[in-house]
Amino acid sequence: MAEIEREAMEYDVVIVGAGPAGLSAAIRLKQLDADINVVVLEKGSEVGAHILSGAVLDPCGLDALIPDWKEKGAPLNVPVREDNFYMLGEAGKLRVPNWPMPPLMNNHGNYIVSMGNVCRWMAEQAEELGVEIFPGMACSELVFDDKGGVKGVVAGEFGKEADGSHGANYEPGMELHGKYVFLSEGVRGSLSKEVIAKYDLSQGHEPQKFGLGMKEIWEIDPAKHKEGTVTHTMGWPLGGNAGGGSFIYHLENNQVYVGFVVHLNYKNPHLFPYMEFQRFKHHPMVADLLKGGKRVAYGARAISEGGYQSMPKMVAPGVALLGCSVGMVNVPRIKGNHNAMLSGKAAAEAAHAAIAAGRSADELSDYEAEVRDGAIGKDLKKVRNVKPFWSKWGLVPSLVLGGFDMWTNTMGFSLFGTQKHGKTDAAATEPASKHKPIDYPKPDGTLSFDRLTNVAFSFTNHEESQPAHLQLSDPAVPVKVNLPEYAGPAARYCPAGVYEFVSEEGKDTRFVINFQNCVHCKTCDIKDPSQNITWVTPQGGDGPNYPNM
Ligand SMILES: Cc1cc2nc3c(=O)[nH]c(=O)nc-3n(C[C@H](O)[C@H](O)[C@H](O)COP(=O)(O)OP(=O)(O)OC[C@H]3O[C@@H](n4cnc5c(N)ncnc54)[C@H](O)[C@@H]3O)c2cc1C
Repeated sequence: MAEIEREAMEYDVVIVGAGPAGLSAAIRLKQLDADINVVVLEKGSEVGAHILSGAVLDPCGLDALIPDWKEKGAPLNVPVREDNFYMLGEAGKLRVPNWPMPPLMNNHGNYIVSMGNVCRWMAEQAEELGVEIFPGMACSELVFDDKGGVKGVVAGEFGKEADGSHGANYEPGMELHGKYVFLSEGVRGSLSKEVIAKYDLSQGHEPQKFGLGMKEIWEIDPAKHKEGTVTHTMGWPLGGNAGGGSFIYHLENNQVYVGFVVHLNYKNPHLFPYMEFQRFKHHPMVADLLKGGKRVAYGARAISEGGYQSMPKMVAPGVALLGCSVGMVNVPRIKGNHNAMLSGKAAAEAAHAAIAAGRSADELSDYEAEVRDGAIGKDLKKVRNVKPFWSKWGLVPSLVLGGFDMWTNTMGFSLFGTQKHGKTDAAATEPASKHKPIDYPKPDGTLSFDRLTNVAFSFTNHEESQPAHLQLSDPAVPVKVNLPEYAGPAARYCPAGVYEFVSEEGKDTRFVINFQNCVHCKTCDIKDPSQNITWVTPQGGDGPNYPNM
């Protein structure tokens, strides 16, 4: 095929992704220099459309970035008033008191927010400062300079046919060049993955670890709604099958965020994370709360869990990785938005200083130093052993040991050094023959829903004529390897029902990819045991359209 010619636009800094990390970087750059040219490219149809977080927000990132956020009308309207933690059994619950928890686990001073709305507000702040923001623009390729550094991205390619050829309405998109390119794509970013591989940025670091977070918004009976209440649970229904737990946050307008996270290092390929979430809502504590209410939205997204020891090198010539493209979630707190914001601020400060000194296209090593040694590194270092303890010893021992280690780390030391994570989540999957299938109850259509019904509540949409954005390295692997060896786990780990094994009499089993259902969570790219699925961006504007996730 002939080389595609594209127009190029020149900027000082090109930012991929309008999440908290990318928007913070854009705002900080403009605060430092009103004349700096900054562009933010977002694949969602609007800013916020692809944002999915819990979310209890620690405002420390926003305090550092926009100290007068209250006066400026930031949508942080619901302070946390009550903080509960329960261990669940199938029918019962045990309240874990707050006093043995290290202070870092305390949610007082934090806010229950819609991060989608926080990002929409941040985008307004950025635009007022002169940042150009282009939603509906997926960045599909990196552009390299002649020395092998990153000089830009391709964004806005539209109109490819299913076979990859250029249809009648083909638009080649544009190249956006910058003195520096910031990749703030969130967890398992597709361009970030390429950069990490090309420059071998993971070398010397532990593999990144992940969870799958699923979330519904419910409107509940006002009599049961307690604005500002935060509840976390562990235990049932996952038991010993996988790490993870739930969150229930009461926000405004009688709405409740009900979410469930399953750590993706589970061994049993029969596990069905989505059905674990649905089953969880039948626990008496949750069912009582939701009865009489209605589910108004659904979504899912992977969450980075590797923490301190898994952060790869985050700079290479011309490019820096921000936020959860690096993986900055504090796992026991289930919080990464504050660190995403702080990383955006730090990257902006490093790029601003470099540009002011006449530099470009080199490594922003000051940014990396600030992340590792500054507030983000300190936040993550204290909790670095919680996830490895959990993976090695299971829930209860890890609560005791992890709790103890967080306390000693709060005092400045650890008896355990820095524990390793070991395997990737894909490699943790064991053959199906070593495990028993799990029998999941059928959704009742009131509290629990089948996947496709719920996917309709993510309002996801993909132009059907384009190539599937879930690409198989070897199309034979799902049926020849993953089905006999791992009982076809893609049919279960995907929370949107994208993957199906279709068997018809007299025909060979087929692996079908319903990419139109995809909610951009990236779980397939992470958990496929053969590492045969690559998530690339579909055309811009496609994907979920989350309201106030
Ligand atoms: C279920 C769940 C619950 C969570 N709960 C909390 C919580 O309560 N508190 C908390 O602080 N944190 C929480 N987190 C973690 C938090 O969501 C992340 O730490 C945070 O979103 C990271 O911000 P980010 O800007 O790095 O990435 P994101 O928020 O993921 O934003 C990335 C943006 O980049 C866009 N993008 C990606 N690739 C491209 C591309 N190639 N081209 C154009 N655009 C692109 C995406 O569409 C998205 O808008 C939770 C996460 C999950 C999944």
